Amino acid sequence: MLLSRRQWLKVAAVGGTWPALTGWSASGARAGTRVTVGTKRLTLRHTWTIARNSSDFKDNVFVHIERDGIYGWGEAAPNVRYDETPQQTVTALERAASILESADWLDYADLRRRWEGVTEGQSCAAAALDMAVLDWVGCKLGVPLYRLWGLDRSKAPVTSFSIGIDSPDVVRRKVREAVEFPILKIKVGRENDEEILAAVRDVTDCPLRVDANEGWRDKAVALEKILRLQDLGVELIEQPLPAGMLDETAWLRQRVDIPIIADEAVKRAEDIPRLAHAYDGVNIKLMKAGGIQEAIQMIHVTRALGMKVMLGCMIASSVAITAAAHLSPLVDYADLDGHLLIDNDPFTGVTVKAGRLLLTDRPGLGVTERAE
Ligand code: MG
Repeated sequence: MLLSRRQWLKVAAVGGTWPALTGWSASGARAGTRVTVGTKRLTLRHTWTIARNSSDFKDNVFVHIERDGIYGWGEAAPNVRYDETPQQTVTALERAASILESADWLDYADLRRRWEGVTEGQSCAAAALDMAVLDWVGCKLGVPLYRLWGLDRSKAPVTSFSIGIDSPDVVRRKVREAVEFPILKIKVGRENDEEILAAVRDVTDCPLRVDANEGWRDKAVALEKILRLQDLGVELIEQPLPAGMLDETAWLRQRVDIPIIADEAVKRAEDIPRLAHAYDGVNIKLMKAGGIQEAIQMIHVTRALGMKVMLGCMIASSVAITAAAHLSPLVDYADLDGHLLIDNDPFTGVTVKAGRLLLTDRPGLGVTERAE
């Protein structure tokens, strides 16, 4: 797990599109400690359209930490929905670097409180730090993270594969391309929901999950749509109404049979109890939570409230997706396909075969930079 500065710069240049690679070393830093950050443009296989926006690429921020010849990787996927930008994320990581450089990384639970003081409002930056430090800790101790937490990797649930909003023809093509996945997650929430679902059902009768990304603005409209989804055998609906429409979502929940899962309505553990009357489950994401440690707390809070646990992701490389996959044996539903939606993943980590998440026995996250 050794990576020299020269190798790192070489890795950082993969694809030649790292627009900003900033290295620093704060005064008083421990010998042999280095924290480096860089931004990488991840390009999407298909234009990615959900209810609120559309994109062809994502600029994610990577952090690389090194001490004692061992290194750790972390990734931040800034999201406009949560007022995050790549530049603000880089700034937050630069602020956190001096905290990291002088700290004992094995004290990661305490250390997390300190970096959260400088990453406020940029939870994806905190997530990247948490991943990197835990990757380093796992490598230092010589164990994969799932093993550190006593989890059986064979108990990871099958992941769904996401189909973004598109014309019926393109949706049919995407669904055909996704033939190996046993469960699909269909994005809706614009004006062509019915056409999209019909196009999907033209091609497959596999189990479907549907995500409206807050796209329906009226509870009666949402009710009508969900009743139709039930007829199509859809197994759950995610964030049908805007996050702020909690009472309307509770109203909806009393009138439908399939579980309603909160996504945009929840970021951290403290958000969950007030949702328990309106939602059946919670979609936990490392980027919203601010890292793996908070995500573990969220899983336990969600369980304690008798709710279902989904583990989701943003568009990201194998670094962030593998980090989440280590927790997946703890959850009911996995939606960890962000790295499968891009065509220039700079890393390898968890692999997906017929929807099954396959973690290796490499220590830490178990991610490796892809060779040029
Ligand atoms: Mg969602």
